[in-house]
Amino acid sequence: MGIKLGIVGYGGMANWHHKNSVRVPGMEVVGAFDIDPEAQANAKKNGIIAFDSREALLKDPNINLVLVATPNDVHCEIAVAAIKAGKNVISEKPVAMNIRQVDEMIETSLKEKVLFTVHQNRRWDKDYLTMRNVVEKGLIGTPYTIESRVHGTGGLMHGWRGYAKHGGGMLLDWGVHMLDQILFMYPTGLKTVFAQLRNIKNPQDPTIDDYAKVVLTFESGLSATMEVATFTMRQMPRWFVCGDVGAVVIEDFGAERGGITRMLSLKETFEKEIQETAAGPTRTMAPLPEETKEDLALPDVPAEWSELYKNVGAAIDGKAELIVKPVEVRRVFRVMEAAMLSSAKDISVAFDEKG
Ligand code: NAD
Repeated sequence: MGIKLGIVGYGGMANWHHKNSVRVPGMEVVGAFDIDPEAQANAKKNGIIAFDSREALLKDPNINLVLVATPNDVHCEIAVAAIKAGKNVISEKPVAMNIRQVDEMIETSLKEKVLFTVHQNRRWDKDYLTMRNVVEKGLIGTPYTIESRVHGTGGLMHGWRGYAKHGGGMLLDWGVHMLDQILFMYPTGLKTVFAQLRNIKNPQDPTIDDYAKVVLTFESGLSATMEVATFTMRQMPRWFVCGDVGAVVIEDFGAERGGITRMLSLKETFEKEIQETAAGPTRTMAPLPEETKEDLALPDVPAEWSELYKNVGAAIDGKAELIVKPVEVRRVFRVMEAAMLSSAKDISVAFDEKG
């Protein structure tokens, strides 16, 4: 049948969805509604209907999917109105402002028997798919530490993102993607959440986090750290993952730079004498002989963002299971709330997977 999209909030991200809709066979953007006249004029200029009101958009029988692409503080209200109007809904991330709103959105969609999902598009990012591919092929053995970083240099956050009342801050903005990626890979067994949310460069709202670090610890012993910083004048790699056989580094989003190093045979004996190494006098940290390890290039893993919309279209038609499931979105949100509590109280927060 194909997706016939109606967009509420026709700003930066909505324009990206519109422009990229040509990559999804059968997808058509019918129209949009925005409270800003300039955005309405832009919708008309881009050849779609600029509806006079949200209600008018929700009444259009041609629309079978509503995209909510407004600032985060109004996602819930708009999504619930769309669901109650009988529309399938895809909300931009982060899905809402708090878990009460997330539950309201999910429960309403179940009651109205419509599809509800979230635009967690970074599940299809090349760097993430490459890291998963390396881990799932067992190239580095069983991971014991995962580090996921996004480092920017600007410091300031764009527009409403710089204010807590609009649902700004880096945990909700980028952290939601980075946590979703890790939690999607490890769907059970999260034990504790520890976080530091800091304001380094944004005096316009001292409560807003422009730096967020979250450490997840799993029952298996695996720890996963995500760090998003808006102000880092030098950057660390996008991914660093160590397993019990090897390690992978992915430097960039395109997974063009980086590599894998694997151990071929375990070193069984130490030199008798202490070694003079680049790290100073040590035997434990002395480099492995070249013949005991190998370097591999990163695999070239295809990554196509439009897979998300193709899946949503197939799920609407009852032909596929939804990939970004409400239950997963809810788990990520619970982890973000645990991170907020951890940071406010400077404690490690126990996570109950059944909550
Ligand atoms: P933006 O400020 O560029 O656009 C938001 C638009 O919503 C504006 O045009 C504004 O006038 C409109 N708006 C505000 N309140 C409204 C209301 N009640 N009804 C109708 N329109 C309303 O913001 P953006 O950067 O496009 O972000 C929008 C959403 O997209 C956010 O939730 C953001 O987190 C998300 N986003 C997602 C990604 C991603 O990769 N998935 C990237 C960027 C932004």
